[in-house]
Amino acid sequence: MPPTEPLAEPSTTPLADAKQALRDRVHAHRSELLALSRRIHAHPETAFEEYLAAAWCAELLRAHGYAVTAPAHGLATAFDARLGSGPVTVALVCEYDALPGLGHACGHNLIAAAGIGAALGLAPFADRLGLTVRVIGAPAEERGAGKALLLEAGAFDGVDAAMMVHPCPVEVADFHSFALGTLSVRYTGRAAHPSLDPHRGRNAADALTVAQVAIGLLRQQLPPQWRVHGITTAAGTAPNLIPDSASAEYEIRASVAEDLAELRSRVEDCFRAGALATGCEVELTRPDPDYLDMRSDPRLLALWRANAAALGRPEPVESGPFACTDMGNVSHAVPSIHPVLDITGGACAPHEAAFAEAALGAEAERAVLDGAVAMAWTAADLAAGRAAGRVWDLAAAPAATAATNE
Ligand SMILES: [Zn+2]
Ligand SMILES: [Zn+2]
Repeated sequence: MPPTEPLAEPSTTPLADAKQALRDRVHAHRSELLALSRRIHAHPETAFEEYLAAAWCAELLRAHGYAVTAPAHGLATAFDARLGSGPVTVALVCEYDALPGLGHACGHNLIAAAGIGAALGLAPFADRLGLTVRVIGAPAEERGAGKALLLEAGAFDGVDAAMMVHPCPVEVADFHSFALGTLSVRYTGRAAHPSLDPHRGRNAADALTVAQVAIGLLRQQLPPQWRVHGITTAAGTAPNLIPDSASAEYEIRASVAEDLAELRSRVEDCFRAGALATGCEVELTRPDPDYLDMRSDPRLLALWRANAAALGRPEPVESGPFACTDMGNVSHAVPSIHPVLDITGGACAPHEAAFAEAALGAEAERAVLDGAVAMAWTAADLAAGRAAGRVWDLAAAPAATAATNE
C-alpha cells in the first residue's frame, strides 16, 4: 500500500491564496453550474442515451477554454476534455445518466455540475498550479458500467488521480461500494398441452423455480456481505401451455471484487441445477462488465477530508459498503476518491422518487458548489505536493486487482 501521509499541508500561504482564488472562480460560475444541473434534471436520459447532457457539459467546457473530444473513447455519449500541461494530471469524472421511470433519482445532474464546476474553477490556474486537467464524461453508471468501458478504451491512461462526488442521504468521505456482477439466464424447454400431453413437455418455468429455490437455500451458506437478487423477466404466456422458455435477470454482490468469481460460480450452479432437474437447456450470459468495489486512495482521501472540513461540510461518517459504482473500476486502476455529500439528512435515499426532488433543492445546490471547490482544492494540493517533491505516480498506486470483466 502507498504511504498514507497527505502530499501537502493543505494550507501553506501561496496555496491558501490559490485556494481562495479557486473558490471565488467556482462561485463566479454559480448560475451557469446550477442551470446546468437543473437542465440535466429536467431532461433525464438513461444509460448510453445521454446526448443532451453530454453536449451541455461539453459546451460549457469549450466556452471556458477546454479542448473537448466528443464523442470519445468509442462511446457516443462520452466526452474527454483537456486543459493545461502541468506535470500532475487530474481527471474530474462527470456522470449524467438517469433512471428509467424515475428521472434523476440518483442525482447525477449534481455529479455533472460539480465536475464541471471544478473544471471551470481550475481553468484559469491549471498551468500555474502545475496541473493538466481532464474532464471525463462517463455515461451509463446505472447500468452498463460505462467507466469499465472507458477504462478498457484507455480513457484513464496517464491520469494521476481521478475524483468525483455523489449526492447521498449521509456524508461519507471514504465511500465503500459493493462489487457487482450481472447475470442473465434463459431456459429453453419444450411446449406441450398441460393436460393432453404433459409428459411431452419440458417446463422452462419449473427450471427457474428450481433455481430460485436453490438460490434461496444457498443464501444461508453465504457470507453476510454477499448478495444475490433478481427478477423473472419471462416464465410462460398462458396457463394452458407448458412454457418452453423462461428468463431472469440477476445481480450478485460482494464487498470485494475478488469474491465475485466464487459467488458467480455458485449461483450459476443453481441455475444449472434447474436445467438438470427439468430437462431444459440453460444459457447463462453476463450483460454488463462487473462493477468493482470502490477503494479510495488514502492520500487523496486525506486531502479531501481536510478540504471538505475547511468548507464546513458535515463531519463524514464511516460506513460499510452500500450501493455500487463503476467508479470502483477506476479506483482499481488509478488513485481515486468518490466522496458522497449529504443532501437529504437521511430523509430519502437514491433511487426513491423523493430523491429526485431533493436533487433540485438548496442542499443539492450547496453540494454542487462545495463538491466543485473541494475537488478543485484537492487537485491544487496534489500539484503542490508534486512541486514539493513528494512522490505521486501510478507506480505507487494500489495494485490493480484482477478485473473479471470479460
Ligand atoms: Zn444510482
Ligand atoms: Zn448514482
